[in-house]
Amino acid sequence: MESKRLVYLDNAATTPVKPEVLEAMIPYFTEMFGNPSSLYAAGQNSKDAIRNAREQVAALIGAKPAEIFFTGSGTEADNWAFIGAAMWKRPKGRHVITTAIEHHALINSGKYLEKEGFDVTYLPVDPDGLVRPEELEAAMRDDTTIVSIMYANNEIGTLEPIAELCAIARERGALFHTDAVQALGNVPLDVKKLGIDMMSLSAHKIYGPKGVGALYVRKGVSLPNYIHGGGQEAGRRAGTENLAGIVGFGKAAELAGRNLDAHIKKMRELRDYFVERVKNEITDIRINGSLESRLPGNVNITFKYIEGEAIMMLLDMAGVAVSTGSACSSASLAPSHVLDAIGVPVEEIHGSIRFTLGDYTTKEDLDYALDALKAAVTKLRGISSLSK
Ligand code: PLP
Repeated sequence: MESKRLVYLDNAATTPVKPEVLEAMIPYFTEMFGNPSSLYAAGQNSKDAIRNAREQVAALIGAKPAEIFFTGSGTEADNWAFIGAAMWKRPKGRHVITTAIEHHALINSGKYLEKEGFDVTYLPVDPDGLVRPEELEAAMRDDTTIVSIMYANNEIGTLEPIAELCAIARERGALFHTDAVQALGNVPLDVKKLGIDMMSLSAHKIYGPKGVGALYVRKGVSLPNYIHGGGQEAGRRAGTENLAGIVGFGKAAELAGRNLDAHIKKMRELRDYFVERVKNEITDIRINGSLESRLPGNVNITFKYIEGEAIMMLLDMAGVAVSTGSACSSASLAPSHVLDAIGVPVEEIHGSIRFTLGDYTTKEDLDYALDALKAAVTKLRGISSLSK
């Protein structure tokens, strides 16, 4: 029986594990299962595999291997960096800064810090989704200890002016953290050039396995240990390592680095083709977020007068996977805080869809998705009381 076609346009949610990545991982579940802390050969082989993965991940962001600490997710890395730094620096000050458009891993860490007595500033963004450096400048105080601003937004793909923002924070004596989960493997990253103190990463957005992340911590930043136990991850994040997962992250990082230029070129071409066709063939739409400073494979579109959930469901029935402008935890129908922050009216937020392309996306996929999209929009506008 022929399996149903799947056109997967939700690569910002997660990506499939590449065959080369899986191949690299498999032996570490079976014959090469030694505990990396064991001193005999089988353990040391595992330790070497983790060392190799650390080098591979470090290379993708211009870090030194000793500055990479593996975690259980990008969310964990965000929590560790933001809450850990705020608690550590509490004697110096209780003011921390992040933005209104962060992933919930940061927003909810901010809410937690508020409950702990911190003063948290959530910087606004302009209508393109960009943080204005002068806003950060104005928000900085003598008691500001950490600034956390995402590298690339997960909903609208905007790339923030990180070099400038980082320079402002550091000049005023605060630490600078960036959530680069969406940027990794999609744009060149260089922590040294930017002077970043901490950067969060995740494997499953770059064709690696789920449940593995990493936090880059610049040498000299004495961020307190996150999980207390044995000596794993230099004692900073204890617990027997997710060996196969870490090996997979390393391999995925190596492939992403090798493929970066071609990936960016291909994503841009396909994304621009898709956007042009949507603009020409569907009326009453709006593209959300900056078109210039944007991840190459991301497009977020509002289809006026209809519900994004209904479009998503019709596309799903046609075998096309996308996500909506509701909260990124798609189980919730709360309007997206990101689209709200860029000033999209609430009824239009509900009509928004995120399309994110990936290495396996083809032009034929996009043609198929466009046909399904046009049919869905026509059908829903036909029955919408809001439609003209
Ligand atoms: N930060 C951003 C910008 C993300 O897009 C995501 C995942 O969607 C995360 C953090 C969380 O990463 P993980 O799924 O590894 O916890």
